[in-house]
Amino acid sequence: ENKMTEKKYVLSIDQGTTSSRAIVFDHAGKIVSVGQLEHEQIFPKAGWVEHNPVEIWENIREAVGQALSKAEINRHDLAAVGITNQRETTVVWDKNTGEPVYNAIVWQDTRTAEIVRELAGEVGNDKYKEICGLPLATYFSGPKIKWILDNVEGAREKAEAGDLLFGNTDTWTLWNLTGGVNGGVHATDVSNASRTMLMDLKTLQWREDICADMGIPMSMLPQIRSSSEIYGYGRKNGLLIDTPISGILGDQQAATFGQACFEKGMAKNTYGTGCFMLMNTGHEPVQSENGLLTTLCYKIGEAPAVYALEGSIAVTGSLVQWLRDNLKMFTSAPEIEGLARSVEDNGGVYFVPAFSGLFAPYWKDDARGAIVGLTRFNNVGHIARATLEATAFQTREVLDAMNADSGVALTELRVDGGMIANELLMQFQADILGVDVVAPQVAETTALGAAYAAGIAVGFWEGEQDVIDNWAEGKRWSPSMDAAERDRTYRLWKKAVTRTFDWVD
Ligand code: ADP
Repeated sequence: ENKMTEKKYVLSIDQGTTSSRAIVFDHAGKIVSVGQLEHEQIFPKAGWVEHNPVEIWENIREAVGQALSKAEINRHDLAAVGITNQRETTVVWDKNTGEPVYNAIVWQDTRTAEIVRELAGEVGNDKYKEICGLPLATYFSGPKIKWILDNVEGAREKAEAGDLLFGNTDTWTLWNLTGGVNGGVHATDVSNASRTMLMDLKTLQWREDICADMGIPMSMLPQIRSSSEIYGYGRKNGLLIDTPISGILGDQQAATFGQACFEKGMAKNTYGTGCFMLMNTGHEPVQSENGLLTTLCYKIGEAPAVYALEGSIAVTGSLVQWLRDNLKMFTSAPEIEGLARSVEDNGGVYFVPAFSGLFAPYWKDDARGAIVGLTRFNNVGHIARATLEATAFQTREVLDAMNADSGVALTELRVDGGMIANELLMQFQADILGVDVVAPQVAETTALGAAYAAGIAVGFWEGEQDVIDNWAEGKRWSPSMDAAERDRTYRLWKKAVTRTFDWVD
């Protein structure tokens, strides 16, 4: 075999909330091919959301096969493989059989509300915030692990005997790719670990005391590694035999990296199932005073870690899906734009999608969704418009918090994700923020960011300068709404939000 074969591509595996994708990128950071499969969203009860980890792993293999065959290449053409993933979603499996002991509990799932309340006790939700940067909330992995150990028969005994492993879907993917029960690598990166509530943001190590509080044996936890280094190689008999797996970033951190937000103060917002705005804060973790999370952004090999402030919004694109699937208002997501354009404005209607409670900047798990301002005048077009506007208003709240925490006002916002295809939404977003909204030419920044992390580890790219050089502006939306109108409608939104508080009794 010819060892001189030039490796021209990097493969990125993007294990998302609704689907798993495999994307082949070339050296210019351009997409060569895509494989994609959706997986089932399992809703066993109100507030519960699960995925089947076995289905996810099968989909990943299939998606990788699709991407390689569409590009007419094989593993020999790949310099490296990167992984990016839906964060917080919790998988616990038996290391001897490779079988999950329970479905994956998805980040949106609110079943841990009671566990979270008990953990907070008298101290309150900010009990661990100094250590891990996060408020106690149903969102994060730690309490989800506790729920599985408390509720799945025999799980706690097995975990204490050292037979169970925990991972987010990056770890699940890595372990399976590198051999599974036959020597699979059990590791994660700092960006994912920072979403568990179990990692100390400063030492980048698991916290024994928090694990003890949650009753989580440390033997279950993956090794914490940087975001860019060789973790292992593709297993024998797999599609990716001997190929280095060398980048892992949680999806939002990957998008921040792919958007080349390397300077302190640079931020991006990703519009997918939910919306996530991250602002690079440099080498020091900054504690938020305005309802944002402090999180690990990335760590490239031996270089010092970079931190971010994050505003997480649980429901944005998934509200569009809800209109499609539960109300049957249309059959595919992009159709919402035509409906929204059938009316001049929102007709006074505001839709606050507190389906998983409210995340940033409120962190209220007892909020529930509301449509307010209805009159007999309203029709389906107003609901469609209010749905899109909800995404933009929630983003404005998060941007206001970022500006307050950082003390400087952002002058433009880099955006990406599936919803940016919606022109009406993006124009309204610029209008409501009062700053330019800018999309890059390559909109798959999540997958791209993980590809860069993997490629940098093996020398395929030299470093961050290559990412900056490859980034190119695709589209720009500038504000055109007058300030009085902007203030009026945003004030009404804020009022609508208060109507969702304190709903669960
Ligand atoms: P994720 O990575 O979270 O799975 P994507 O970035 O693939 O999400 O974006 C998909 C989401 O965007 C879905 O929730 C879908 O409802 C929404 N979406 C896709 N296209 C449009 C559109 N043209 N207008 C509004 N929403 C859209």
